[in-house]
Amino acid sequence: MIDTPPHFTSGNLHIGRAYACILSDVAARYKRMQGCNVLLPQGWDTQGLPTELAVQNKLGIPLYNFGRFRIACKKWTRQMIRQMRETMFGLGCIPDWSFEYKTMDDEYHRKVQLALLNLYEMGRIYRSKHPIHWCPKCRTALADAELGYKREETGLTYIKFKVENGFFEIATTRPEFLHACVAVTFHPEDKRYQHLAGKEAQVPIQNRKVPVIKDESADPEYGTGLVMICTFGDEQDVKIVLKHKLPTIEALSDEGKIVNSGKYDGSSIIDARKAILADLINIGALSKTVKMKHNVLVHIERSTCQTPIEFLSKPQWFIHITDLKEEIVKLAHQIKWFPPHTKKRLIDWAEGLEWDWLFSRQRKFGTPIPFWHCQRCNYIIAPRKEDLPIDTAEEKPPVDKCPQCGSKAITGAKEVCDCWVDSSITPLVIAGWPDSLQCYPLSLRQQGSEIIRTWAFYSILQCYLQTGQPPFKMILVNGMILGSDGRAMSSSLGNTVDPLEAVEKYGADALRQALLLASVGSDFPFEWKDVKYCYSFMQKFWNACRFAQLHLADYRLPKKTPRLYLVDKGILSLLQQLIKAVTEKMEAFQFNIALKELQNFVWHEFCDYYVEIAKNRLYTPRKSWMKKSAQYTLYVTLWTLIRLYTPFAPHIAEEIGEHLFNETMLEAEWPTVGEDMMDKRAEKAWIILKEAMSTIRKLKSELRLSLNVEIANATIHYEDESSKEILEILEVDIEEAGKAKRVEILKKAGK
Ligand SMILES: [Zn+2]
Ligand SMILES: [Zn+2]
Repeated sequence: MIDTPPHFTSGNLHIGRAYACILSDVAARYKRMQGCNVLLPQGWDTQGLPTELAVQNKLGIPLYNFGRFRIACKKWTRQMIRQMRETMFGLGCIPDWSFEYKTMDDEYHRKVQLALLNLYEMGRIYRSKHPIHWCPKCRTALADAELGYKREETGLTYIKFKVENGFFEIATTRPEFLHACVAVTFHPEDKRYQHLAGKEAQVPIQNRKVPVIKDESADPEYGTGLVMICTFGDEQDVKIVLKHKLPTIEALSDEGKIVNSGKYDGSSIIDARKAILADLINIGALSKTVKMKHNVLVHIERSTCQTPIEFLSKPQWFIHITDLKEEIVKLAHQIKWFPPHTKKRLIDWAEGLEWDWLFSRQRKFGTPIPFWHCQRCNYIIAPRKEDLPIDTAEEKPPVDKCPQCGSKAITGAKEVCDCWVDSSITPLVIAGWPDSLQCYPLSLRQQGSEIIRTWAFYSILQCYLQTGQPPFKMILVNGMILGSDGRAMSSSLGNTVDPLEAVEKYGADALRQALLLASVGSDFPFEWKDVKYCYSFMQKFWNACRFAQLHLADYRLPKKTPRLYLVDKGILSLLQQLIKAVTEKMEAFQFNIALKELQNFVWHEFCDYYVEIAKNRLYTPRKSWMKKSAQYTLYVTLWTLIRLYTPFAPHIAEEIGEHLFNETMLEAEWPTVGEDMMDKRAEKAWIILKEAMSTIRKLKSELRLSLNVEIANATIHYEDESSKEILEILEVDIEEAGKAKRVEILKKAGK
């Protein structure tokens, strides 16, 4: 069973997702050909902010009409799935359409809620007011993994604080949070400020007193070395407030408006900043502002939002996970990672874990959080398992008063689960959980490197908590496709590629191969020249097959291997080595090397040489057994190559399979190495013949002669007796293939 990323239903199967589809399709086709019973389910991750925004903005359906809004979201999603399915067909991807799941389905909701209920029974679910990352634009809490940094220019403002008889200066990028200042810190070893420790300073404008404390986080090199701590200005502030148990003053409303500041209340951050700076100048508390670049935390993951994140203290739902660091690291080691270095990214993330899993989202289109809570004592009340799926915002709790304090003020959760809770159970859903756990842990998970700290992390965690086992045995991590300029693809940079455009121009098989030529696990730029190369490769292969068809029209493979000519034995022996190499690389998910070896063999052994060498024996055989030998070799070689080629280029392989061999590749078996066909002497013959041909070709081209021009005499020098013997057998082949009237075989001078 293969667990693939449920596609987010944006409607557009962009090149990155197309690549993911192709990778899992190649793995599935390969394993099916090996006789494995492969299940490649197709999932759809349907409940995300982008869908809500599309329904709100494009369809103009307001969020407050929940019922209508959710129906519109579902309808929109179904439409998007239809579009994406078509693209998948176009790419030649064949997941098991009979096993399709959508995270918005009732049955899926039931399973997500059941997982949460189990976690509740383990005592891992809690609701708490906590500083959280908040996107003021999307008006929702965000998880760590959804954040990123953007480099921006800003002003570093130096503000004077009064202390005893004098004053000191702090430097801050957030003067608009002055009203939420609860302390000033400096580094314990900063000699300049030791006398300030334990003193109280007066916050300008607010005229409130705050303590001056020592904290290692203050950087003596930054600004003046004195730092204003706000609740909650940035990540550092949040940590210090919690560490020193400082009071909290909420600085912002959900909409990102200033609160608790007195005269600036209701202003936007930008307006408040302007007004405060002006007031600071008026009272003489602003010494200077210097321009600087700094990293701003923004809403980035799965979103084009890019809005700077604020910290708010809000009641949220959490899963307690910070005690599981060691277990996650252990689980990571139990899973086999391809490429191996990707494992470290998960381990680093797990080891650096600081917060519990915040899983509530203040949105509407999502899996409802299946709990109620007591408004007086915060006690959590769970539904009965048989009542799932449930929307506790709509339904009554199973008790009429709080079991802990007796209060009747019980409220259902109005929030929904974040999408990572939904997708954290995909391995369980595929295995038939909770009724069964078939083939669990799954054989393979395939996913992108950019979601290691989210999807891989959360599913390993969730599935472990539910089953005590890791969710899969192997994980294949792919890199990202960059624009041809080497930068991340983005519509604003104009460097995106529509997979359907490539399919229309060069066919799905050419696109598949072009993407598969990149090493899995690394980021790589999309190059049209790769698509074109693969397209011309297919033309070359196709032409060789047309030639073969002429000579294999009524050919039946004999039961017994016929007498084989030395040259034929040579290429058949090399073919066995190719099977071995390609199979090994496929097993290690090194599709790029497997494909490259295959393409090289087809192009530079089979098309360039074998077809030319076999021609004469097929058209005008010297002896009839020699023709039969060539036919047999042509048949066996092509049938092997086509099978090796099927996972990469299923369309053309199917076409050739049907025309030449009257077979469907959907039922074809992966070739195995025939040890009895390995023949070192024959390989040597093949190499000598190739060398002779290529030398003659090279000379002709240097003399600007057509390759068909007949030459009078070719002289070949040999080095050892075994070569001489082989050359004597091949004399006629060299004459024929090189169009030489006479071939002279001489011992190399000095030997
Ligand atoms: Zn946002
Ligand atoms: Zn209570």
